[in-house]
Amino acid sequence: METKLHLTDREKAWFENPSGLPLLISRPLFDLIDPDDMNDPVRKQFVPDVRENDKSASLDPLAETEHSVSKRIIHRYEHRIAFLTTDRCFSYCRHCFRRRFTAKESGAVTEREIDEAASYLEAHEEVYEVLLTGGDMFTLSDRMIEYMLSTLRRKRKDLVLRLCTRANISFPQRFTPELMQIIEKANEEGPLYLMTHYNHPAELTPESLASVKAFTRLGIACFNQTVLLRGVNDNADTLEKLCVRLLASRIKPYYLFQCDLVEGTAHLRVPLAKGLEIEKELRKRLSGLAMPQYTIDLPEGGGKVILTEQHLISRDDETFTFTTPEGEIRHYPAN
Ligand SMILES: *Cc1c(COP(=O)(O)O)cnc(C)c1O
Ligand code: SF4
Repeated sequence: METKLHLTDREKAWFENPSGLPLLISRPLFDLIDPDDMNDPVRKQFVPDVRENDKSASLDPLAETEHSVSKRIIHRYEHRIAFLTTDRCFSYCRHCFRRRFTAKESGAVTEREIDEAASYLEAHEEVYEVLLTGGDMFTLSDRMIEYMLSTLRRKRKDLVLRLCTRANISFPQRFTPELMQIIEKANEEGPLYLMTHYNHPAELTPESLASVKAFTRLGIACFNQTVLLRGVNDNADTLEKLCVRLLASRIKPYYLFQCDLVEGTAHLRVPLAKGLEIEKELRKRLSGLAMPQYTIDLPEGGGKVILTEQHLISRDDETFTFTTPEGEIRHYPAN
């Protein structure tokens, strides 16, 4: 790697004193990096930098540990749970917000833990969506994925299952015909959604898009979550291109996340004021379908809130007062 990439001083310094999330870059991503471009968007997301060793922020700003009902189940919102199916990924994103868990000691889920999760869902009818996440669920074996999808489905016919993954980008070859047969069968038994994590148009390679198409052709809707990252996608031109191309590939831009206050990610964070400027510009350029929701997961487990320019400027018992996107005033009767 060192010979191909000509490491910068900051990258070299991390290698001399590696800490936090381990280094892992899959071959397809590594091949995407332009070795002569120190600001390559893939390089910035996957090659570690010594600034990660800054330990000033929290390891768990979303207080996920507090909201965990077991080692692998986070029940933060009443109607949906996150199931941490494994701590492994095909590549480790330097901005990973779950680094207290990712690539640590939990490993892959066992059949017993899947059975326990199924029992939890049986006992909690109020939960009607499960995020199969981690880590990356597609690092699990075909057999374990099949066991998980069928076991959860058997207990709860109504469950919406979100398959959360970055494998379409980091290892699109994972979606073999055998695996897609398992997915097809599971999707016949109940609704599956594919949740991808594209951050930059460079990641939309033909192989990657073909692996998404293997899902959408089965009638599985696909949604994308992007993380706003300094030096990667913190400008309206890049995000406009990304969202337009995602939508054309049948992937609905869902969230644009403000980078969480996680240890080791400060150098990748974009100031909120700049994020809001970008959101405003994107709203001018993108259709409603192509527009993601700029969202912050509030510290200390405050939960997700949507960030957007405020148009409601005042309200009383009679009138709500708005500014139009052009800055004019409009009134709307309260009743
Ligand atoms: C973000 C998140 C969800 C899903 O939230 P949506 O707004 O429905 O996408 C569920 N559980 C946890 C713990 C989350 O962080
Ligand atoms: S794929 Fe997700 S869980 Fe894995 S390192 Fe990236 S952000 Fe973290």
